[in-house]
Amino acid sequence: MASDDLIQKLKTALGPQGVLTGKDAEEKAQGGWSNLGVPAAVLRPANTDEVSKALKLAHAAGESIVPWGGKTGLVEGGEADGHIALSLDRMNKIEEIDATGGTMTVGAGCVLQAICEAADEKGLFFPLDLGSRGSATIGGNISTNAGGNRVIRYGMTRDMVLGLEAVLADGTVMNSMNRLIKNNAGYDLKHMFIGSEGTLGIVTRAVLRLRPKPVSQDTGFVAVESFEALPKFLRHMERALGGALSAFEVMWEDFYKLVTSEPAKGRPVVAHGHPYYVLVESMGGAREADAARFEAAMMDALE
Ligand SMILES: Cc1cc2nc3c(=O)[nH]c(=O)nc-3n(C[C@H](O)[C@H](O)[C@H](O)COP(=O)(O)OP(=O)(O)OC[C@H]3O[C@@H](n4cnc5c(N)ncnc54)[C@H](O)[C@@H]3O)c2cc1C
Repeated sequence: MASDDLIQKLKTALGPQGVLTGKDAEEKAQGGWSNLGVPAAVLRPANTDEVSKALKLAHAAGESIVPWGGKTGLVEGGEADGHIALSLDRMNKIEEIDATGGTMTVGAGCVLQAICEAADEKGLFFPLDLGSRGSATIGGNISTNAGGNRVIRYGMTRDMVLGLEAVLADGTVMNSMNRLIKNNAGYDLKHMFIGSEGTLGIVTRAVLRLRPKPVSQDTGFVAVESFEALPKFLRHMERALGGALSAFEVMWEDFYKLVTSEPAKGRPVVAHGHPYYVLVESMGGAREADAARFEAAMMDALE
């Protein structure tokens, strides 16, 4: 349990906006997708320096701190009952978009959807896409190495992060804000933090890799009769689309039924009664030619 003395020191270091206690802390723990408990306090630092100060104080007092992003995690990684949570919600700035270099520098509290929209406005593309895009933060995506539905083409979050800044438990700031794709100099320490759920430090900033914005998007939804046919269908689409395949999401019959029957709002696009269903997506650079190629690939697969 965090002591009153520590909370007081944190209030002095972070200012009145920077520390929530009592009912305010309890309320801040609500609205997530898993039970986060009732924290003794929720810290809301405004920048990396304040994160460092907070961790230094907590470290000296032997108290642990649990980082919070958008609280969309489904495995209670942010559970902070009786402890101190640290929300990155004030560190949500898009600092820079380098359209020539194809990078975006962001605060860890930046919401995924805001990142995707900002890239789109510049004619660029950040390919990470999850159902929780409107609330999940890039710091949370990095800390969980989130996947989403375009992994097959663009990889996991790990493959979209060029550089990282993180604060260690004792307050030390680790700066590894690399902006290059081709960089083989020394240890690549960012990978220690990606997917480590805040156990090794708090991610505070990141440099993201942007891609050219696709011009075309073609989608298909297919019922498949056997498990053995699924990998064959996947390999066929990969070959036929020449690298343009961007999603291949397999659904089992019981899941498909659940999300397309009352009380769910979705309705079946293909009739129930098949063992597997696949959502296929292709993205490319030539609208008409891509549509024709996608249709031909789907027709070939049916034969
Ligand atoms: C509708 C829905 C769809 C989803 N779809 C997917 C999906 O397709 N693929 C997928 O992988 N996940 C998915 N998720 C799970 C979740 O959205 C992801 O794990 C997401 O990356 C979590 O981001 P967050 O900002 O909400 O993190 P939180 O839930 O706030 O935190 C998650 C974990 O990361 C830690 N953490 C958060 N921020 C930081 C930081 N700055 N530094 C260090 N540690 C930190 C927390 O302590 C916690 O352990 C989905 C969730 C929902 C609700």
